[in-house]
Amino acid sequence: NYNTRTIQKSGDELGSLARAINDLAFSLQRVNEQRREFFANISHELRTPMTYLKGYSKVLREGRWKTEEERNQYLEIIDHEATRLTYLVDDLFDLAQMDEGRFNLEHKKVNINEIIKLVVKKTAYKALDQNLNIEYLCELSDKEDSIVLGDPLRLEQVLINLVENAIKYTKEGSITIYTVSNDENIKIKVRDTGIGMEEEELPYIFERFYRVEKSRSRAFGGTGLGLSIVKQLIELHNGTIEVESTVGEGTEFTIILPKILD
Ligand code: ADP
Repeated sequence: NYNTRTIQKSGDELGSLARAINDLAFSLQRVNEQRREFFANISHELRTPMTYLKGYSKVLREGRWKTEEERNQYLEIIDHEATRLTYLVDDLFDLAQMDEGRFNLEHKKVNINEIIKLVVKKTAYKALDQNLNIEYLCELSDKEDSIVLGDPLRLEQVLINLVENAIKYTKEGSITIYTVSNDENIKIKVRDTGIGMEEEELPYIFERFYRVEKSRSRAFGGTGLGLSIVKQLIELHNGTIEVESTVGEGTEFTIILPKILD
């Protein structure tokens, strides 16, 4: 009886060891696939603006433009693509630093209301400019300040990213940035009445290079890295980020950060 039990037990152990090795092999394979995919994406993302830069500078060099307006258009494309490349390189640099755990994050007392006011100041011209019909609202509770421990510049970067996306994917209606807080945490919400996203897309939008429609982001000028960086930055602040969205109605991102007492 004792022997049988021992044999059965070791059989179980062998079985679970085999399963663990299988799982490990599977996840290593998945990591490798992700790496390969990541580098393929990077090459593609770098090559596309390069092609534009080379192409249009050649056209200009050879004087192949008919009107001054056409020439300015080409110069604008060159400028736009060069800016895109700069953003891409900045984003990749941030991701590389985070992957290596060498990301320098400040840990200061940060007043979230102040950060939001700054973000609104910096992004308002985008929401109100262009030929958009957008109302840009900011609702903060003045009664209390919401203090978190974190890096003010990085928190600003996160919110600018969410607001710029909201503006990018909203043609008319409103963009609202507001906070809801309790004793333990503060929720920062960025809501838009833009094009929205399908529910099945939502689990993937924080992945690197993921775009809801492949063509969408290129037309809108994004890198597809923004939200993956946002999520990592928030997690480095011991926070979480959630999203709710309905096609044709809009999107709301919620960042939850642990509050500290002032
Ligand atoms: P991108 O730089 O392409 O905007 P992000 O990582 O910031 O990349 O976002 C990933 C994708 O999520 C975008 O390509 C876009 O399709 C979708 N998305 C992000 N924010 C919004 C929003 N506010 N409304 C609708 N779609 C959005």
